[in-house]
Amino acid sequence: MPYEDLKGKIALITGAGKRTGIGYAIAEKLAACGSDVVIADLGGGPAEAGGVRLATGTEMDEIAAALAERHAVTALALPLDVTDRGSVADLAGRVKERFGRLDVLVNNAGAFFGVPSTIHQYDEEAWLKTIDVNLHGVFRVSQALVPLMTGGGSIINTSSRAGKFPPLFNGAYATAKAAVIMLTKVMAKELAGQGLRVNAICPGQIMTDLEKWRFEREAAFFQTTVEERIKEMCKTIPLGRIGRPAEVAELVAFLASSASSYMTGQAVNLTGGQLMEL
Ligand code: NAD
Repeated sequence: MPYEDLKGKIALITGAGKRTGIGYAIAEKLAACGSDVVIADLGGGPAEAGGVRLATGTEMDEIAAALAERHAVTALALPLDVTDRGSVADLAGRVKERFGRLDVLVNNAGAFFGVPSTIHQYDEEAWLKTIDVNLHGVFRVSQALVPLMTGGGSIINTSSRAGKFPPLFNGAYATAKAAVIMLTKVMAKELAGQGLRVNAICPGQIMTDLEKWRFEREAAFFQTTVEERIKEMCKTIPLGRIGRPAEVAELVAFLASSASSYMTGQAVNLTGGQLMEL
């Protein structure tokens, strides 16, 4: 089996509570590699954020039960709101109580708020909420969980192509994702001495609820159809198609495992060639 060393590891993935999402695909992959997984997501909160469906407690429990059965690992669904310090502290307490340590942390939770806007017209509340989930969420969760990573390990922070290449009318998300890359690099330097590697991933266009909603928003904004927006987008991707959550999960498993043992502080693109850098 590839990534043999992931067997018996404890992995926590934030925002993994929807079967359609990247977080779920990551949990599935790590469980398939033999890791015990914690599915941490909103669960009991509102049904949607800014127009995108959120995880429910029922779906999270079903996911955990299915992963445990399919892969013969321990899979736990725990509630988490990355914008709430108390919720983050509760999560850390429960992981400590149940497992005593953590080996792999995937900061994947993300959300958009508001409507497409230029910076000078951006709604302040939407700006603050978007930055809070996508940037401060990574800070809060890492701060609470790094103390449990006593045996070394790997942290993977989800940035985005949008963190490197400026999208139009989505400034808060892009700014937060760019900051996640710098946060990753700072953490990588600070934690290297403790045997912890920290890398970011920068997916391009991956078909999930978030991506569908973004295409819907853009179609309304540009007065066209979702199909037309997707067709236009695919023209900008050398591989000519939108990516799949499972393809992101492959990269995360590589970064979580010792196969990437000499990599830290990197922000790895996964964009079908849409983003190419020297
Ligand atoms: P998604 O909407 O399917 O998943 C996001 C998850 O985060 C959901 O399960 C949601 O419940 C959870 N979440 C939202 N707010 C939260 C909060 N306050 N606390 C805890 N959990 C919360 O979207 P996705 O496309 O799977 O996105 C996963 C990550 O990948 C995000 O960080 C996103 O920004 C990033 N990303 C996605 C794409 C893409 O094309 N889909 C591209 C680049 C980066």
